[in-house]
Formats: sequence, C-alpha cells, structure tokens
Amino acid sequence: MSHHRITQAIRIRTDRTAEKEHSSPLFLTSSFCYDDAEEMRAAFADEIDANIYSRFSNPSVQEFIDRMCALEGAEAGFATASGMAAVVGSFLSFLKKGDHLLSCSSIFGSTHTVITKYLPKFGIEYTYVPAGDQTAWEAAIRPNTKMIYLETPTNPGLDIIDLEVAGLLARRHNLLLNVDNCFATPIGQTPIQYGADLVVHSATKWLDGQGRVLGGIVVGKKELIHEIYLFCRSTGPALSPFNAWVLSRSLETLDVRMERHAGNALYIAQKLEGHPAIASLRYPLLPSHPQHEIAKKQMLNGGGILCFELKGGLDAGRTFLNKLKMLSMTANLGDTRSIASHPASTTHAKLSPEERAAVGITPGLIRISVGLEHRDDILQDIIQALK
Ligand SMILES: *Cc1c(COP(=O)(O)O)cnc(C)c1O
Repeated sequence: MSHHRITQAIRIRTDRTAEKEHSSPLFLTSSFCYDDAEEMRAAFADEIDANIYSRFSNPSVQEFIDRMCALEGAEAGFATASGMAAVVGSFLSFLKKGDHLLSCSSIFGSTHTVITKYLPKFGIEYTYVPAGDQTAWEAAIRPNTKMIYLETPTNPGLDIIDLEVAGLLARRHNLLLNVDNCFATPIGQTPIQYGADLVVHSATKWLDGQGRVLGGIVVGKKELIHEIYLFCRSTGPALSPFNAWVLSRSLETLDVRMERHAGNALYIAQKLEGHPAIASLRYPLLPSHPQHEIAKKQMLNGGGILCFELKGGLDAGRTFLNKLKMLSMTANLGDTRSIASHPASTTHAKLSPEERAAVGITPGLIRISVGLEHRDDILQDIIQALK
C-alpha cells in the first residue's frame, strides 16, 4: 500500500547507513568511501547505486529530492544551491544555439535577466507572450521552439496560466513544458498532472518557509532529470547537504503551513477588497481575479501571496512601506513572517517604465507575502498603513 503524498513528505527516509535515529541524520561529507577497488570501479561506472561525491549526490540531498518527487508526483529530481541554479540548469541542459524558448512576460526578475541577457549570448532566442492571453502562445511557436517556460501564478502580478492548455500545446508541438511552481507549491497545484515535463522550485521560499536557507530543485521525467544531473554534476550548482537537511524537515510541515498561509491570505484579500486607497486587488481565489475560473480548476488553494495597486502610485507605495509597523520590508517571500514589497522602487527599479508595464508592474503595486501571524494582526497593520 502506498501512502498519501503528504505522508510520504513526512516519512520518506533515504539514508542507507543510519537506522536508529528518529530524525534523519545529516550527511555533512564531501565524498564517500568504498570497501574495495571493485566497488569503487562499479560506482564510477554507474553499475551500482552508490554515492561518489557530494557535487553529484548525497543522502541528505536525496531525501529532500525524494520527498519533493512524492509531493509533485515526479519520477526523479535534482536539487540545486538556489532556485536560479535550478532554472538555469533546466534551460542549459536542453537548449542549444539556434533553439527558441517561449515564455511569459511576467516572470521572476532574475529569470527575466537570464532569458533576455544571458541566453541570447549563447544564441538561444526567446519570445514573451502576455501571461493572460492563451491564444498568443500557439501563434508564437516557431519551427525551432524547444521549450515552454512559465510561472503560474506569476510573480508578482499573480496572473494565472491554464496548465491544461499549456500541457496540450506542448504535446501537440512536441515541446518541453517547464513550470516554475514556486508560488503555488505542490500543496497548491501539481503541474505534472497537466503534462509538465519539468517543474522547478525556489526552495528558498515556501518550501523552507522560514527564511533560513537558499535552495532549488528540478523534478520531472527520469530521462530528462538524468540530463540535468549530468549537466549539474559537471558544472557544480549542488545543494549543500546542510540546507537539504533543513529543507527535508521543512517539507514535514509544508501542508499545514500552506493551509494557514492560504487561509490568512484569502481572509485578508476579502477584507481589503474595495478599500478606498486600493485601486485593484488580486488573489487567485477571489471571484474578481481575471483568471479566477482557471485558478479554481487547477489550484487546491490560492497560495500565500496577494497584491494590490495603490491609487496614489509610486509615492503611495513608498509611503505605505514606511508606515508599516509589523510587516517586514525584505526581498524574500514565503516566510512565517508577513512581508510587504514595492516592486517598482526595488526589485524592478532598474527596468524602464515601459519594461515594467510590459511585465505587469504598475507604479503603486504592493505585494504581500502573508505569514503565519494572527490574521487580524496582519490585516490591522496593512489597514493602518493605508490611512
Ligand atoms: C525567488 C524565486 C526564484 C529564484 O529562487 P532563488 O532561490 O532566490 O534563487 C525563481 N522563481 C520564483 C517565482 C521566485 O520567487
């Protein structure tokens, strides 16, 4: 009998040596020993399933991978030092000179930089499609298109892309579908179920959920992950065993944490909607969200992020941050502590106003990462800062 994926995220043990510890031991070692020359030869020849060197594999890292595979319904995975290392690994393992990548305009800032600044240096072309426009995707496919890369919900605009439509499109045109599932987490949605070949995560965010470690992971089809493994074992973005050990403990509480994060976020979104200082507010599970029907179809909860546009624009955004008494002003998201950010003056300040508009960042946009504090304390702090 196989257990529910939530149970697996708590119970999976990967280590081969320890037996009696109730909590998994931490394998803080850079390499592994063999009984004899024959065993070492077989390990290097890939004839036996043995650890060699922690840039390739490590039992603490493998436990995090196995638990994530259970949560995402994936065959295999490779864990990396950060979410960006996972994104870049998932690109460079498959894209080569002359290939074309299809993505959506509102994606994470550093991913945008990789796609627009670094991939073209290696002759890899890209086209951005507006996230909310399902029909534009198919029209943008070219003979040399190799991969569709998308985020849903997008960061920070919370656009929702129909994963079922994207999965069918990828199958029809024989493309790799690569989904950044950072915002929803596997508790909120499982893109593989809709045909995603690869799912990438910044484990730094909700997966850790406590703002402690950087980490990333790619999960997906076994033969694709093997390509990523070969690329990463040579290029070296390995996840630290310590961070992996922390992240495996974090996954044991992911389900209960996300339930509360999403519950708090929905409550606060409902209370703030219609506030006189707010021009518009977005949360995937509010009926007012432009892609609410898609969100309802593919998301088990709405996640822990909400965003709103202040009527006063850029100045109002900065004033709002200055007036907050409890919410943290920090770059991270997905923490036990609620966080407010103003992308136009921080993460996206280097873009021109036109570029910002193209990626859905308006001057007064505020993003709230809703934490685990009492929901009324979070709400009250936001309301007093809106005055
Ligand atoms: C933070 C983030 C990343 C990058 O992750 P790091 O761990 O910071 O490298 C990628 N995608 C999304 C949606 C993110 O929010």
